[in-house]
Amino acid sequence: MTTPGPSAARPRLLVSRCLDLEACRYDGTVVEAPFVRMLAEHAELVPVCPEVAIGLGVPRDPIRIVVAEDAGPGEGGGARRLVQPSTGRDLTAEMERFAAGFAVSAGAIDGAILKGRSPSCGNGDVKLFRSAIDEEPSALGRGLFAGGLAARRPGVPIVDEVAFEDRGAREGFLTRVFSLARLRAARATGTRAALTRFHAEHKLLLLALSERVLRELGPLAAGRAGEALAFTWDAYAVRFVEALDAQPSAAGRANALMHALGYFRGRAEAAARHELAERLARQHRDEQALEACASELRAWIVRHGEPYLGSQAFFWPYPEALR
Ligand code: SF4
Repeated sequence: MTTPGPSAARPRLLVSRCLDLEACRYDGTVVEAPFVRMLAEHAELVPVCPEVAIGLGVPRDPIRIVVAEDAGPGEGGGARRLVQPSTGRDLTAEMERFAAGFAVSAGAIDGAILKGRSPSCGNGDVKLFRSAIDEEPSALGRGLFAGGLAARRPGVPIVDEVAFEDRGAREGFLTRVFSLARLRAARATGTRAALTRFHAEHKLLLLALSERVLRELGPLAAGRAGEALAFTWDAYAVRFVEALDAQPSAAGRANALMHALGYFRGRAEAAARHELAERLARQHRDEQALEACASELRAWIVRHGEPYLGSQAFFWPYPEALR
């Protein structure tokens, strides 16, 4: 078997420029993020520093998000302003304009890795204040740029550099962005053959995500009489992206693994197959045990040169070097 895995694709990833790329933080520093260098070998990086882009220099006085007095508890729904307390400048309109323009001009984006806690780039852990002088935040929320991007690009996965350190979150993010990149590449061909192949390579992943969606997408990929291919692609892509929005549950992953095990009937040693099936049935809620079973199955697939399983995004969702 050649290198296992689905068709190759190179995601376009939006990255906060201060993550290992340039010393553009408010205090003139850069954040060490070696994974950004690693990703650059497998993805096209699209760096952005929204604060520099709206004309703030490096270094610069800190900025913060102030929520309206009448906002309720928690993140609230009050109007937010991006302000620079030392100068009294209100940067809200500039940042919102930049986020709106960037979401259009950036072109295809399969995912974004943004700097956490930043009032511009933060993805949910940004301190929100009641005033420009309060020392204690009243809630946590999203940065203005990250919020603008998420609103205009639904379906594009966003993580921050802290979440990226968590194995589960990182694997989920990479699975989504590489799947979206494969979808984009296949769709660009506009052919039925590319759709059929894409669907075939993502069957087990879809089974892990939602058996119902897998059943819906099968007939779409096969083609319906009289339906224009462009329409089919649109309908398929919408449902696929929606399904990808969720993380596969442990039960879904166990189901996909059990399904894959069926391909080794009469091929893998009977005792080993039986033992793996028992483990899957017993430990179908234990993520670590499931990953161990998946590793074992990956090794079997390579050893036996099983072509269908060897093409499955479920087993090789992104390049092995990133695992
Ligand atoms: S967090 Fe965003 S706005 Fe702040 S320095 Fe980094 S890239 Fe620029």
